[in-house]
Amino acid sequence: DHRPTASTHAFVVEPHPTPVPANERTGLIANPGFGRVFTDHMVTIRYNEVAGWHDAKITPRAAFQMDSASAVLHYAQEIFEGLKAYRLPDGGAALFRPSANAARFRASAERMAMVPLPDELFVESVRAIVRQEADWIPDIDGGALYLRPFMIASEVFLGVKPSSEYLYAVIASSVGAYFKGGAPAVTLWVSQDYTRAAPGGTGAAKCGGNYASSLIAQAEATRQGCDQVLFLDAVERRLIEELGGMNIFFVFDDGSIATPPLTGTILPGITRDSLLTLARDMGLSVREEPYAIDQCRADAESGRLLEAFACGTAAVVTPIGTMKMRDGAFQIGGGGPGQTTQRLRQALIDIQRGHAPDPYGWLE
Ligand code: PMP
Repeated sequence: DHRPTASTHAFVVEPHPTPVPANERTGLIANPGFGRVFTDHMVTIRYNEVAGWHDAKITPRAAFQMDSASAVLHYAQEIFEGLKAYRLPDGGAALFRPSANAARFRASAERMAMVPLPDELFVESVRAIVRQEADWIPDIDGGALYLRPFMIASEVFLGVKPSSEYLYAVIASSVGAYFKGGAPAVTLWVSQDYTRAAPGGTGAAKCGGNYASSLIAQAEATRQGCDQVLFLDAVERRLIEELGGMNIFFVFDDGSIATPPLTGTILPGITRDSLLTLARDMGLSVREEPYAIDQCRADAESGRLLEAFACGTAAVVTPIGTMKMRDGAFQIGGGGPGQTTQRLRQALIDIQRGHAPDPYGWLE
């Protein structure tokens, strides 16, 4: 039972004494980019073995006071989430599937031997920060309030063992489109030297370490003139897994779509899951099955593979135009946004922004 006790529900609010003035905020959120514009407040909740989850607060966003022997700084016992609040046509705000993020956060905590935060407390914490910071949701095309819940091991101890104390926090950032210029289609670098996650490893958990280990491959992608890195499986280095921060889909000439299965080495994306549902309900034939990079290349060259796209909270749905690997590059379809990609993207965005009915109850 992951439900919190009644006493954990109340967030004590300590308002910022000098919040960013409204006119300055308007300027900041007119063209926020991604991950650089932060709101005035944050949520914090603490855990120790005596008090359990306690001390839930909304305070001015500030630096943490941390002991230099805090476990997270040495052994990377850390997890995070990413989700967005959107402005609705009636002026209100809605979160997209926060319960799914709560469940994934709990699964990540369990994999990293951390004490799971009760799902209800997670959802309440993100609701509380959206209520507090609703004015920071940009009214621009593709704008949203990106929420970053995270949890760190805060016990002061250099022994290698699961921490007995944790700090959970939520910060919020006004964001625009993830790829600069709206990116009509992105280019992927297929990493053949580095892998992201091995069977039995932490690939399905959203832990900071996964991202630390992916940075060298992403840097290589950038050096190769590509936007993102595509990882292959760690055993055979053949099967397509996912990008550094997005899942991947393929659209074929028989009208079917496919995405790699959740075998424990890729992140179970909430956008991925939502698109699978939307595609099935559009009547598309949908497969979750392994896809080898050589087959992908052959299918792109024969014309059987028409479209590919990346998906995630930050990038929503982004067409993939070209893949580049050691022995050359190949184009997918016409190299630009494909029809099915656009259709799925629009269906998702319409629900997220309250422009279409929400038959799945995804806006919470
Ligand atoms: N894969 C990885 C490695 C990611 O970091 C993300 C972003 N959370 C995704 C996939 C997409 O997940 P979601 O749709 O839940 O944002």
